[in-house]
Amino acid sequence: MGLIESLTTENRQRLEAIASEKRNLLSFKAYERLPAEVLSKHFQATIFTAETVPNTEPEQVKILCNSDNWSAGIIRTKPVWIVHNSRHTPVRKQSNLMHEFAHIILKHKMVGYDPKTGLPQRRQQDEDEAVFLGGCLQIPKRGLLWAKQKQMNVSQVAVHFNTSKEMVRFRGNVNGIFLN
Ligand SMILES: [Zn+2]
Repeated sequence: MGLIESLTTENRQRLEAIASEKRNLLSFKAYERLPAEVLSKHFQATIFTAETVPNTEPEQVKILCNSDNWSAGIIRTKPVWIVHNSRHTPVRKQSNLMHEFAHIILKHKMVGYDPKTGLPQRRQQDEDEAVFLGGCLQIPKRGLLWAKQKQMNVSQVAVHFNTSKEMVRFRGNVNGIFLN
């Protein structure tokens, strides 16, 4: 993931701190799995799939239903409505939703619409921050340290936090915490 270079150290520390704060607020310890559903409830968000999202043109529904090339998008903010790609795996769904909640936490503005999917577009910097914060929410640095102490390997950590192994490795790399 190229965003390791794109975000400054200060910014990454800031995002890590925001994730800790949010987890504290929700009474989740650093070593506990934080399901996207908890944030969903916290933000009183409604989660749709391409098939269930209201007020969508049939043409757009068709594009969304048949494509793997999108993850999720916030289609309304008050109240929060998020559409996610039901073709993705459950693990991917978790990270997709965390990414969108990261946009909400960071109050990112949309800058336009994707002409292909009709979903909101954002600045690249905001995208990178959302990816990074989403990862921090799923596997906080202190959670990784806990796993390292327990001598857990990448697969075990992925199962524990309900993430992909790629996410575990990414979080390990950015924090300099390497698991077996
Ligand atoms: Zn995004």
